[in-house]
Amino acid sequence: MSYKNENEAAPITGPALWSAQAHLPSVLGRQLIIERAEGGYVFTTDGRRLFDGTAGLWHANVGHARPELADAAHAQMLRLETYHVFGRYLNDRAVELGERLAAMSPVDDPKVILNSGGSDAIDVACKLARRHWQHAGHGDKTVILSREFAYHGLHAYGTSIAGLDFNRDGYGTESLVPETARVSTYDIDAVERTVHEIGADHIAALVAEPIQGTGGVITPAPGYLEGLQRICRENDILLIIDEVITGFGRTGHMFATERYGLQPDLITFAKGVTSGYAPLGGVLVAPHVWQPFYRDSDRTPMFRHGATYSGHATACAVALRNLDILDEEKLVPRVGELEQLLVRELDALAGHEAVVETRVAGLLGGVGLVDDVSAEAVTDELVEHGFVTRPLRGNTVQISPPFITTDDELRQLVAAIGAVLDARAAR
Ligand code: PLP
Repeated sequence: MSYKNENEAAPITGPALWSAQAHLPSVLGRQLIIERAEGGYVFTTDGRRLFDGTAGLWHANVGHARPELADAAHAQMLRLETYHVFGRYLNDRAVELGERLAAMSPVDDPKVILNSGGSDAIDVACKLARRHWQHAGHGDKTVILSREFAYHGLHAYGTSIAGLDFNRDGYGTESLVPETARVSTYDIDAVERTVHEIGADHIAALVAEPIQGTGGVITPAPGYLEGLQRICRENDILLIIDEVITGFGRTGHMFATERYGLQPDLITFAKGVTSGYAPLGGVLVAPHVWQPFYRDSDRTPMFRHGATYSGHATACAVALRNLDILDEEKLVPRVGELEQLLVRELDALAGHEAVVETRVAGLLGGVGLVDDVSAEAVTDELVEHGFVTRPLRGNTVQISPPFITTDDELRQLVAAIGAVLDARAAR
């Protein structure tokens, strides 16, 4: 049997680096290579200076290339690059970060699991939810629910619970890890029906972003998140709130969980914990989930999960300094101010004939465009005006600059979107 298809087009060559999440024939030959950055701006190898209207992938909350964070990494590496946290070994930075995160956690008295990013955190949370129920003697509680349009990274569990079908498709089965299902993103009664159809006895956890980012900056309908929490409580389903984007200030609260008054069983985080200066993520775990693993008994199980870089000392040192910066520069309340400005600016843009809807929660904004104005084309044109934005699902342009953004920069970003839409309308 031959796997060769004679009709296939010849491959295009490009850099040896295989870009992530890219349709390669569409990007090869026009890739933008960022070589340095400063605060809210990034600089490309072909000489462009671009305002970073998305903080990279929602990560550079304190701005790019800050010496304090480079110094923290440098000092830590000279002392101890890292040491694993397996068995009886720990490293002091991971312990310190665990205490710091526990003290600021919206979940009371949590334990903190550290790893290297958001997709990792989702894998841990989903495995831990299943392990929790197995240990509690509910062996059938294995299904993980997620919302339509959800994005939870692209490791095996993130791929399996993707609510954006294109991220789940193409691997030969409906769900790479078996036993997952989607619930409605808007209609809480429909969520309840799905739970009853599958049967609560089969469901381990429900994972939800408080504001869906990649799905198109979908802010929760009033009462929706509270409804999810109620359904989870009534049906013994663990609620995992994915704060990978929203954690550490993006919504004007340290966690979106606080903004919406939730009490989840697990919270996943990444990005903003280090502002992207080192790969780090993790999970905050509520007492009723961690306690069974801490009982003083030889029948107590282990949660067999970990990686060489769980609690990486240098990443933890960077996170600690990043959290100091958030406090010292009062960046979380600053997000609250920028949110009000963004709402005003987008309200003005909402009247444009090319705009269907604008959505804002904190410094997280989306401009939904009419079908015949492509968000992808608009973001490409914005680069020519000196701005990085990103097209999201729902023909939406993403706005989420660093927290250090000035009022003027935010106004200029929204004005540039307006100018590009005007220019297209005039063509
Ligand atoms: N969860 C959410 C809500 C995300 O937006 C992302 C990434 O954008 C992830 C998880 C995955 O995080 P990472 O890319 O660090 O693996």
